[in-house]
Amino acid sequence: MSKRIILLGSTGSIGRNTLQCIEANPDLLSLTALSTHSQIDVLLEQCRRFRPRAAAISGAEPSSDVIEELLRLNVELFAGEKALVRLIERIDAELVVNAVVGAAGFLPTLAAVEKGCDVALANKESLVIGGEHVMRRAAEKNVRILPVDSEHSAVFQCLMGEDVSTVEEILLTGSGGPFRLLPKEKFSSVTVEEALKHPNWSMGAKITIDSATMMNKGLEVIEACRLFGLTPDRVRVVVHPQSIVHSMVAFRDGSVKAQLGKPDMRVPIQLALTWPERRPSEFPRMDFSIAFSLDFEPPDLEKFRCLALAYQALESGGTSTAVLNAANEIAVQRFLRREIRFDQIEAIIEQTLSAHQIVRQPSIEELLAADEWARNIAGKIDFD
Ligand code: NAD
Ligand code: MG
Repeated sequence: MSKRIILLGSTGSIGRNTLQCIEANPDLLSLTALSTHSQIDVLLEQCRRFRPRAAAISGAEPSSDVIEELLRLNVELFAGEKALVRLIERIDAELVVNAVVGAAGFLPTLAAVEKGCDVALANKESLVIGGEHVMRRAAEKNVRILPVDSEHSAVFQCLMGEDVSTVEEILLTGSGGPFRLLPKEKFSSVTVEEALKHPNWSMGAKITIDSATMMNKGLEVIEACRLFGLTPDRVRVVVHPQSIVHSMVAFRDGSVKAQLGKPDMRVPIQLALTWPERRPSEFPRMDFSIAFSLDFEPPDLEKFRCLALAYQALESGGTSTAVLNAANEIAVQRFLRREIRFDQIEAIIEQTLSAHQIVRQPSIEELLAADEWARNIAGKIDFD
């Protein structure tokens, strides 16, 4: 029987790549539902092409024309803020792919786990906000969280056939982003256009800015600790400008395993969709018939304060990582709206974190309250 897939965030960068992977494996994968926040035209086009059972629109009012067309296509519509959770509760599937950006992905991830569905997770924010809850409920419900993020997919692949207790450390690689070589004094004059140009990957706006500040790597350190059940001292970031080694695992006998490939998200996406099978693909291959070299260097935590703040929040625990995430989302939004400078992103996150009263072992409601509190504070911080 084919694997029925609910794809949340089908209109985004990961969403569109996921659709390509589904199309390339029609005997194994079938799309049963999809969602968008507000790109309704793209969603409609996807519905015409894939004929899913259901679709969700979480952030815009569908017009009567849209409702009529979905009716004609026999697609059940879920609309409004809670649409994703309701869709997951009502529509049967074997796998939920969460390709939503930001904290909005958290409750849908939990809903999928509660329903007993495996989750292919691109939405790293889910694990940054409430990773302990997600992983504990996943274990209790016997469902898998399959990483889509390329670094975590690399670690997942390096761990195949290994026992996690033999891991000495995880080496998460990151390109260092567009400003790896830019002196810190110049961070204050970085423009939105410059920050949106990533050297190796083409992605949504939020994660592209996160890559430029290296907050993306910070979120990924937190994601890795939660996914693989490791303490922060066991996750090291390594800057690797070529983005060919997607991450590595060092074992207690001194052996290091790495996973390599061209920077193409379809590889980790397809693996998460087809797992435990590794299916063939037409994606571009590495070419070892020509000479090339790979570089590695330690990250500069003075220059990329966001990465240091992520480690700090992880060490503090409780609601801190939810606050880090929310403050970052607001700071990135404000930078994209040209309200603040690039170097003020880290300042907003730092100030929000230091104003926060940490709640230990928070409930889901306490995590959501911390998220809301942090958004409010981060939105109000002013600079002269
Ligand atoms: P994107 O901005 O291209 O797409 C985001 C998707 O989420 C869209 O379909 C959008 O309609 C939907 N969405 C946006 N806001 C929403 C909200 N409030 N509620 C519900 N849905 C909403 O983002 P992306 O680059 O595809 O990234 C998606 C996730 O995957 C992020 O968590 C990102 O960190 C992670 N990720 C992305 C890449 C990549 O290559 N793009 C790589 C690794 C991890
Ligand atoms: Mg990544």
